[in-house]
Amino acid sequence: MAAFGTVFMPEMALAKFENGAWSKAEFVSASSLQMHPGAHVLHYSSTCFEGLKAFKHDDGSINIFRMDQNIKRMAQSSRLLNLPKVDGKQLESMILDVVKKYADEVPAPPGSMYIRPTHIGIEPSIGKAAAPSATSLLYVLLSPVGDYFAGGAKPLRLLLADNGMRCAPHMGMIKSGGNYASALGPILEARESANADQILFCPGGDVQETGAANFVLIDGNEIITKQLDSTFLHGVTRSSILTLASDLGMTVSEREISVDELLERAAKPGTEAALSGTAAVLTPVGTLIHEGKERLVGSGEMGATTAKLRSALNKIQWGQAEDTHAWLTKV
Ligand code: PMP
Repeated sequence: MAAFGTVFMPEMALAKFENGAWSKAEFVSASSLQMHPGAHVLHYSSTCFEGLKAFKHDDGSINIFRMDQNIKRMAQSSRLLNLPKVDGKQLESMILDVVKKYADEVPAPPGSMYIRPTHIGIEPSIGKAAAPSATSLLYVLLSPVGDYFAGGAKPLRLLLADNGMRCAPHMGMIKSGGNYASALGPILEARESANADQILFCPGGDVQETGAANFVLIDGNEIITKQLDSTFLHGVTRSSILTLASDLGMTVSEREISVDELLERAAKPGTEAALSGTAAVLTPVGTLIHEGKERLVGSGEMGATTAKLRSALNKIQWGQAEDTHAWLTKV
């Protein structure tokens, strides 16, 4: 199977914002995009994107998971970046139309069709370093994907970076390309220096998130994760896992966790930690690396609660459990 995110459907849905209005969306080739080399996005990073999935059920139907949440987050990212205002209804139709067009190409579970809405400022003006792009493109790319962690969800090794910062603190909740570029240095450094799979950004000792997933700690009947603020991405999977945990009778604590508290709790035998995200689903964290020392989280293996929550989420996505929260949209 090709690497995650490298295969695309031949066409995408695209709409253009100019003269203060959105064009009607159309299907265009997904193999290239023409824009001026002076386009705003290429210089001043006026870009945001989303990532969500469509799943094939046993009855052959195609179902998109929590599309409304991703549309809302995209509208919010666009607003905070001063890109043209996204029309949520239009984006919803674009997603539905393009997924419908390629319904036959949606892989069966554990695969899915990864959906990548993207919004970029394209005004050809390098004079607008401190002004928004008046024109933009909104498009929806599709990429069929297999299991992100083929071969099983092996517990990850995380480097705790006490003074690591993924991006500027007011930008964390925006799903924008610049944030990912900003995090690359520390991520590569963590791989090289500590043989870590990921880095957990903990600026000032505040446990936040990794480069592409949120972090949760499970201690007995309690699931703990940082409360929402502007500094990190408000994951749709995070919110879904917290809801499922609450359904299972767990105590959900959204609050600050310090590195000290994390290390103290992780040392107890039953503790579990995991990363949540559209690609990661819920992936166990087995080892924390801090100040040169390696410490297992609980047993270091995938814990029972992580497995239960991951399976509960997958079952809803795959149509194998009742969708009690109305998270799925049939295309
Ligand atoms: N944090 C970051 C930085 C991410 O890139 C992602 C993946 N979108 C997440 C968290 C998890 O978000 P979601 O559950 O919506 O995929």
